Amino acid sequence: MHDIALEAIAGALERREFSSVEITSHLLERIERANGTLNAFITIDREGALRSAAAADAARAGGATGPLLGVPIAHKDLFCTAGLRTTCGSRMLGEFVPPYSATVVERMAAAGCVTLGKTNMDEFAMGSSNETSWFGPVRNPWDTARVPGGSSGGSAAAVAARLAPGATATDTGGSIRQPASLCGLTGLKATYGRVSRHGMIAFASSLDQAGPIARSAADCALMLQAIAGFDPRDSTSIEAPVPDYVSQLDRPLAGLRIGVPKEYFDPGLHPGTEAAVRQGLAELEAQGAKLVDVSLPHSPLSVPAYYVIAPAECSANLSRYDGVRYGYRCKDPVDLRDLYERSRSEGFGEEVKRRIIVGTYALSAGYYDAYYRKAQQIRRLIAEDFRQAFEVADVIAGPSAPATAFRFGEKSSDPITMYLEDIYTIAANLAGLPAMSMPGGLVDGLPVGIQLIGNHLQEGLLLNVAHRFQQATDWHRRSPGFTA
Ligand code: GLN
Repeated sequence: MHDIALEAIAGALERREFSSVEITSHLLERIERANGTLNAFITIDREGALRSAAAADAARAGGATGPLLGVPIAHKDLFCTAGLRTTCGSRMLGEFVPPYSATVVERMAAAGCVTLGKTNMDEFAMGSSNETSWFGPVRNPWDTARVPGGSSGGSAAAVAARLAPGATATDTGGSIRQPASLCGLTGLKATYGRVSRHGMIAFASSLDQAGPIARSAADCALMLQAIAGFDPRDSTSIEAPVPDYVSQLDRPLAGLRIGVPKEYFDPGLHPGTEAAVRQGLAELEAQGAKLVDVSLPHSPLSVPAYYVIAPAECSANLSRYDGVRYGYRCKDPVDLRDLYERSRSEGFGEEVKRRIIVGTYALSAGYYDAYYRKAQQIRRLIAEDFRQAFEVADVIAGPSAPATAFRFGEKSSDPITMYLEDIYTIAANLAGLPAMSMPGGLVDGLPVGIQLIGNHLQEGLLLNVAHRFQQATDWHRRSPGFTA
């Protein structure tokens, strides 16, 4: 039952092959068995899940239908869930129970989805390996000695191990695409403003964006359909109609111009990954797409610009955790200053503190012009590179990550090596563009992801390209064969 794709579950529910309560219980048992090994979930909501599954079954019996009605999914533990603990992978929010739900959570629930639980993640979404979580690392079901990627590593591991057919995730610099790539999944980060950030715990507000991780583009289309769209509670939300992503999936690719940026095939790219990506591009060409060379000359500057802008925004966003209003509070503070200092130094982990310090420094008087303003100027140049590339290309394609999943500890001692994991993904966040990763091969038994980047609001086209690719290939159907 756990091998059925998200897209097929509603059909099976409709035909009464099984009930939502049945598939939900089956997955809950699987999660409970697997979590000791994978650590993909921080919170399992057995009771809540069975309650909403029963409600979905009752609704269906009463004549209700819908592609997600009764379909179990998981939420990254960065989305607030009313009444259900939301930790953001941090000790700071280790006991936090939000009084309201994120728009993404509300919309998935309104579509009839059942929430199995909350998935593990790097602390405050800062990381590329899930090694920074206060709740411990997540293991990659393809090889449990390796990382699942990050920061949405719990969502990716859960979907890859068939513990959930789909999961929500967020991407500030690559956190949907890189774990999707390392776990053999399809994941999409929407255009900045396409999916509401209301109730998403903020990391870097001008970069954060949500999206689905699932097995196929068709599954992602169903999830994106449910969560996309204007939300008055997010002031950066785009007021534009949401197209029917599902009905666009099958359009032929003949004549589509696919831009291949030469900067994305640099010496940092593993030769095996490069070969798989090039083969994927050839498959798209075989379907009638035209490959065109494009250049994104400022892309080598995307990592340095990001590591000024993201920490700057994080230092401001995370100032709200003061040990007073909510979240972790130190024991027996002697005075207010002691309360602030110890609550924050005990509540935050090392990577989060590193970013707060870097961000505070970059924003301080005297350094603002040298670092923050410069980074913003680079951000504009990067957006301009894409604007020019999209004059000759409809979609841009390249690798999602430099290589396949790495071993625990391999990069965690050196932040710069870790930061380079996102060298191909960060630019799309800086430019606010939609981007996705789809499975494009295996190297030494480990998945490789192909990245597609679109122009603003072109999620439908990205899903269309990925779907056509998945009609001709079976990489997205490969399973790590994880036994729970
Ligand atoms: N790995 C990047 C970072 O550590 C991106 C994280 C993300 O997208 N949330 O900041």
